[in-house]
Amino acid sequence: MNAEPGTRVLKADDASIKAAAASLRLGGLVAFPTETVYGLGADAGNGEAVARLYAAKGRPAFNPLIAHVADIEAARHIAFFYPDAQKLADAFWPGPLTLVLPKRPDGGVSDLALAGLDTVAVRVPDHPVALALLRAFGGPVVAPSANRSGHVSPTSAAHVMSDLRGRVDLVIDGGACAVGVESTIVSFAGAPTLLRPGGLAREAIERVLGHPLAVAVTAEEAPLAPGMLASHYAPKARVRLDAEAPRDGEALLAFGPAPSFSGTTFNLSPRGDLVEAAANLFSHLRALDASGAKAIAVMSVPHEGLGEAINDRLARAAAPRN
Ligand code: AMP
Ligand code: MG
Repeated sequence: MNAEPGTRVLKADDASIKAAAASLRLGGLVAFPTETVYGLGADAGNGEAVARLYAAKGRPAFNPLIAHVADIEAARHIAFFYPDAQKLADAFWPGPLTLVLPKRPDGGVSDLALAGLDTVAVRVPDHPVALALLRAFGGPVVAPSANRSGHVSPTSAAHVMSDLRGRVDLVIDGGACAVGVESTIVSFAGAPTLLRPGGLAREAIERVLGHPLAVAVTAEEAPLAPGMLASHYAPKARVRLDAEAPRDGEALLAFGPAPSFSGTTFNLSPRGDLVEAAANLFSHLRALDASGAKAIAVMSVPHEGLGEAINDRLARAAAPRN
């Protein structure tokens, strides 16, 4: 395959895995094979790398991402396991099963990767190249499918290149993916719930649990209350968008040069950089909530590039809730 400068395609071997781990450590984007589909990997703990990942995919919204780890031990460092979750991990990892669990506060997954949530989706993929990369890197790697937003998931390095050539640093070619569909997602945020059907059959999961999984209320079924969806972080404070200056009683979420203001202020990016702003978005909203602010004035953020996803989340944060 002929890559343009900017995106290297390397056959999977020890040297390319080492190069990929080094790239991830520098905040790079690396596409790699898993048994489900090719993932677009970034250091889960590096908010700016995660922001660049969303930009490379052209995602118009920040959805929480799956943290990939090499083994259950590593998963335990980022999430709290319930006994039922442990049973599923023992039965099906490595494999096409993602578990949504309460995050550990010191788990090292960035707020942007979690879209601000208190839960984290975690998985141990069943692919020798993915596992070797995760071991070489030594930390969680977020890896949504390595395609442009709205396109089908890639199951070969050629698919990845046709979508992401020039947008990612490195593609590791490990041949075709065996499963070819995404992982099954089970949430333990409440009663065990099937969030997404995928490469592992629901029946197999229910057999191990000894009881049926609950059915998820999907975003499509509850479009009127976006802030209330379990998969969205909703600040407690009231949010006012496109504010030029804060009013009495408001805290300020600024972008770019901020008006002088003596109240609580967090700036998404004083220099007006959308990658930095994306990386700070959820942690700043959380910090504003933690400050006790009852209302937040948000300065306008341009709608281009990552600004689209930032504005999507801000609009959800500002949507009326009961
Ligand atoms: P993908 O981008 O294809 O890897 O898919 C990731 C899926 O996991 C999306 O459907 C996310 O909404 C879901 N997901 C990731 N983290 C969480 C979480 N903490 N709670 C609920 N769903 C999650
Ligand atoms: Mg996808």
